[in-house]
Amino acid sequence: MLKVDSYIGGRSVQPGSGLYVDKLDPRTAEKMGEVANSDPQDMDFAIDNAHQALPAWRDMRPSERGRVLLELARIVRRSEGRLGALESAETGKPGGEMAALMDLTAQYFEFYAGLVNVMDGEVINQGPNYHVYTRRDPFGVIGVILPWNAPLHQAARAIAPALATGNTVVAKPSEHTSASLVELARIAVEEAGLPAGVFNVIVGKGSVLGPQMARHPLMRKISFTGGISAGQELGRIAAERILPLTLELGGKSANIVFDDADLDAAAKGATRAFTWNSGQWCCAGTRLLVQENIHERFLDKLVAEVAALRVGPQFDATSGPITTRAQFEKVQSYFEVAEREGLKPVIGGKVASGEHLGGGWYIEPTVYAGVHNHMTLAKEEIFGPILCVIPFKDEADALRIANDSEFGLGAGIWSRDIGRVHRVAAGLEVGRIVVNEYSGGFVQTPCGGFKQSGYGREQGIDALSHYTQLKSVIIRL
Ligand code: NAD
Repeated sequence: MLKVDSYIGGRSVQPGSGLYVDKLDPRTAEKMGEVANSDPQDMDFAIDNAHQALPAWRDMRPSERGRVLLELARIVRRSEGRLGALESAETGKPGGEMAALMDLTAQYFEFYAGLVNVMDGEVINQGPNYHVYTRRDPFGVIGVILPWNAPLHQAARAIAPALATGNTVVAKPSEHTSASLVELARIAVEEAGLPAGVFNVIVGKGSVLGPQMARHPLMRKISFTGGISAGQELGRIAAERILPLTLELGGKSANIVFDDADLDAAAKGATRAFTWNSGQWCCAGTRLLVQENIHERFLDKLVAEVAALRVGPQFDATSGPITTRAQFEKVQSYFEVAEREGLKPVIGGKVASGEHLGGGWYIEPTVYAGVHNHMTLAKEEIFGPILCVIPFKDEADALRIANDSEFGLGAGIWSRDIGRVHRVAAGLEVGRIVVNEYSGGFVQTPCGGFKQSGYGREQGIDALSHYTQLKSVIIRL
């Protein structure tokens, strides 16, 4: 049985209340462990530890900080199997997906460990009587609040730049997937040599700990990845405190297939776009816009690809279960919504069944065709393997439909016409566009939203500016 406590100040810390909540296994719906239900005093303790560790870490030369983070990356690579198995067990992700996710986790530490060596301010020429320069200072204690869909990858992309730039961190993983992050913090301190208190993990309910973190006077910035309503609540508290936030929220990304695309590749890509991680992916391509003149032909190819998916607990499954019971129930509720809106699934449309699935939270990958963009199914983020196929006439029509959304996180374009690709990319109101494949991009490419998908950016060089504050020094000589 898994027992997950917080990791604070370089040691495992039980909740002051002594209370734990059950952690259920997504593959069986049975209890697999217990997770600490930390209270506000535990949060105070974590923030105090991070605050005490700050001066020494902040004042270290960047190259020395980088060396520790590189060592952490090396240990993550060495422990890839163990960390991956832990994350796979708590999320239900197919084991075959884990090596790539652990590689990404290590890459964040490698990338920011190196980058911090060349993160300089600039000299601003104001003539011979002045010496003017800028420097980038850390914020201090940074809070990192995380969702459950890709725990270590999402943690690393915020924690690596935060630590590299000299901040200390209190991370709050989802209460559904805390074990892998606690283990990452432990190896960071106990094996990689990160000073105790620099990277702390507090485990418990977000509705209690999140607001408490934002209200704490020593908290200087929060990076939040999660849903809109928790993001809004944090935003209200942050407004009171003038607390800087990075908000990485949800999406309803359009994946646009033009008639000149490689339709076989597009059908494969469009399938992965909405079924990777069982659709529990912020950038999932869940509105598939298909040009009218290829609509029927393309739908046949798409359905053939979806029919070939392997849903289940096995190592090489293409889709695992939904990670939480509440999310499993939420995804099912959209089958009723679709029926009320007069939609019938072309494939899927129910909970997946079969002996090998036990009592797990599996959903059949589902495609609805003939969807209108104003329907609930096309407007709301479902966070499950449900796809809406929406026909369009031409380029202008595709852009109009794609941009007619409150979200603006990601998009895909499938076309061999390079002029069209650039025109459409310029017109899309989203933070990241992938062309002729549908992937999560790279550690080096910025990720973040337009509109209600959030603000601020993670990943890439630009993230460094979100974990530092710019200071000007003006010297009269
Ligand atoms: P969630 O908002 O329910 O929870 C996210 C985190 O916030 C958890 O740690 C939770 O405990 C905490 N939390 C809950 N209530 C809070 C509150 N009032 N104040 C502060 N923190 C609170 O989201 P989820 O269900 O865990 O994850 C799914 C959502 O995350 C989806 O909307 C998805 O699109 C989004 N997401 C976005 C990105 C991105 O990069 N933009 C990446 C992954 C997931």
